[in-house]
Amino acid sequence: MKGITVSGDGAYAEFQPGLTSGELLRALWAQGKETVTGSCLCAGIMGIMLGGGHGYLQGLYGFPTDQILEMRVVLANGTLAVASAEENEDLFWGLRGAGHNFGIVTLTRYKVYPSGPKWSQARLVFPGSHLEQIFTLSNDYLSIDSHPAGLILWYVFSRRPDLAQEPVIVMDLIYRGDLAELENLSSRFIALGALEVSMYTEIEYPDLYKLNTIDETSVVCKKGAYRHLFRSYLKRHSPEALRAVYNIFSNVITRTPVWTYYNESYAADILSATQDMKRIIVESSGEGQQNSYVNYAVGDETLAEIYGSAPWRVEKLKRLKSQYDPQGKFNFYLPLA
Ligand SMILES: Cc1cc2nc3c(=O)[nH]c(=O)nc-3n(C[C@H](O)[C@H](O)[C@H](O)COP(=O)(O)OP(=O)(O)OC[C@H]3O[C@@H](n4cnc5c(N)ncnc54)[C@H](O)[C@@H]3O)c2cc1C
Repeated sequence: MKGITVSGDGAYAEFQPGLTSGELLRALWAQGKETVTGSCLCAGIMGIMLGGGHGYLQGLYGFPTDQILEMRVVLANGTLAVASAEENEDLFWGLRGAGHNFGIVTLTRYKVYPSGPKWSQARLVFPGSHLEQIFTLSNDYLSIDSHPAGLILWYVFSRRPDLAQEPVIVMDLIYRGDLAELENLSSRFIALGALEVSMYTEIEYPDLYKLNTIDETSVVCKKGAYRHLFRSYLKRHSPEALRAVYNIFSNVITRTPVWTYYNESYAADILSATQDMKRIIVESSGEGQQNSYVNYAVGDETLAEIYGSAPWRVEKLKRLKSQYDPQGKFNFYLPLA
């Protein structure tokens, strides 16, 4: 079920649920359109948008779930319901964030936009010693005034034995616009003293994913590999907490050669390290709870941490669950009951 049709006026597409983010993105691009998908192209678009979703274009258009105009859903009682702002509004609300709970979506009407300009990217590799400076400066960029909607900041702790003995910090500034503007945006970071600076320009939007090793051919999409996704929502970076996380990473990486791994015997070591990292980051948030993106929840969270801390949210979702799926037929993923 991978059908996709763009509406005559070009404002939305209707698609079936079997598409991955990459398939949706490329089919739209071929028709002069783009929209928000997940940033890793091999994951299915359904799971992503039913849980909210994160993707490169979210700064411009909102989350994947914000693009949903209408869904057709086969309910637990076998009937077909249409959910939109006009019909079954409560179900429509629930589907956009807790959507794994209420039925099987067979068709989605989704906002699309004219395909955008080319992108530029700066990849800066810093020694671990620069961590505090990088994240202190990054906190400046988080203020709404100085952070353009088309700028994505992305950080990875990694190994580059050709450049440094200790793990390095790879920072990507991914920008929807031309190189001159990006040079301006990245100059304060470069001035911190990067070990390596690579600039890329004139990048077509679909090609960004290969450059950032999150397309279907990338290691993150390889079948049979182990990876652990943990999440924490932060309003600001804590350089102290990130230093502690870096130290754990630095320690683990000397024992286990890769983060995405195939040898199951690494699992206990890596899981324990990532649990420690998560605890440190959550504590640094000052929120007192581990707020989670629905699709990165690992099962040790409360419903309020997954679906929202205002009590009325979980209460309303539970009411909807008992209305639409009283016997819990759709309890495969983070069930509300
Ligand atoms: C390698 C990798 C990369 C990722 N990258 C991103 C990313 O860039 N952005 C992001 O936001 N998330 C990302 N995620 C997390 C992702 O959102 C979740 O893993 C999500 O569950 C994937 O959905 P799926 O459709 O591929 O998986 P599935 O296992 O098919 O679906 C997950 C759940 O969604 C429900 N579901 C699926 N289809 C339907 C349907 N038609 N109707 C009703 N319910 C349905 C089911 O409950 C199912 O258990 C990534 C995950 C991985 C493993």
